[in-house]
Amino acid sequence: MTARYRVFSVRVAAVTSLTPHFVRVTLTGDALAEFSSVGLDQRIKIVLPIPGHGFTDLPDGEDWYGAWRALPDAIRNPLRTYTVRSFRPDARELDIDFVAHGDTGPASRWVSACRVGDELRIVGPAVPSSPAELPTGAAEFDPGAADRILLAGDETAAPAICAILEALDVATVGHVFIEVPTDADRLPVSAPAGVEVRWIARNGASHGVRMTDHVHAWASTVAAGPACGDGADLQDVDVDEQVLWDIPDAEASRPVYAWIAGEAGCVKELRRHLVRGVGLDREQVAFMGYWRHGKAEN
Ligand SMILES: Cc1cc2nc3c(=O)[nH]c(=O)nc-3n(C[C@H](O)[C@H](O)[C@H](O)COP(=O)(O)OP(=O)(O)OC[C@H]3O[C@@H](n4cnc5c(N)ncnc54)[C@H](O)[C@@H]3O)c2cc1C
Repeated sequence: MTARYRVFSVRVAAVTSLTPHFVRVTLTGDALAEFSSVGLDQRIKIVLPIPGHGFTDLPDGEDWYGAWRALPDAIRNPLRTYTVRSFRPDARELDIDFVAHGDTGPASRWVSACRVGDELRIVGPAVPSSPAELPTGAAEFDPGAADRILLAGDETAAPAICAILEALDVATVGHVFIEVPTDADRLPVSAPAGVEVRWIARNGASHGVRMTDHVHAWASTVAAGPACGDGADLQDVDVDEQVLWDIPDAEASRPVYAWIAGEAGCVKELRRHLVRGVGLDREQVAFMGYWRHGKAEN
């Protein structure tokens, strides 16, 4: 059984500058009547237009991905991964919070120039057409019955963390560390009373260092507890060659659940520290490399 993924035609309904480094783009279109949202850290692909060519050769239909891969480079639209920050099915509106990181990549370039009315395509799950199809897709956050949680990430993970926070049960207990470029990039978000949310401004420090310090301090509070194993079998991931995506088994029972996403080199170091150093059981932690310094997504 699989969820049905398809290409949705949308256009920009609003562009809102949230902070110096976050831009919210609201997308709309009749096609979104068929979009299936599970919330949390649900990811989608955005398809960027090719200058002067738009979406002319973008395939549609069931095997759109195979057909897209087979296209020559010059006419294959770039795909990039983003989080559904919120979806309002009645209004057929979907928000994406983009990190504006300059003009080094097609997505960041597009968001710095996009205007109301511009066309975009997204790829995501469609509402199931029969009970045999999975109604959900592409969200990883799954704490099960964990007594306490950790959410940690850089600015690219902030949209996912905010969406997760807003969906948490009011009785949830835990810690959240979100590293953003500057003090002015903190975003308003609501969270259960038992969840402490810390926005950590880099303010010129190296990427990930300050978040790492906070996660290490948190880890010292769980070390040698019931969430720990020996970590001896951990294989490192070469984040310049492979995507770091290490997700625990959905069925595992967990005293602690951690969800960590951001720059892959930083996530790799945290994985090494938490699993091999502290001995945190891998069944307690989702490690996700959202992007890699110096590497385009594909
Ligand atoms: C599941 C998932 C969810 C994501 N959700 C979001 C989201 O909601 N919002 C969001 O902004 N990003 C999100 N990202 C990250 C986003 O996909 C990457 O940042 C992506 O590389 C941006 O594409 P681009 O075309 O701008 O740059 P690319 O063409 O991919 O890269 C070009 C250059 O820019 C660098 N680069 C890429 N991203 C950044 C960055 N953030 N800061 C500094 N340099 C960068 C690369 O290292 C490379 O050198 C998500 C990623 C994943 C896997």
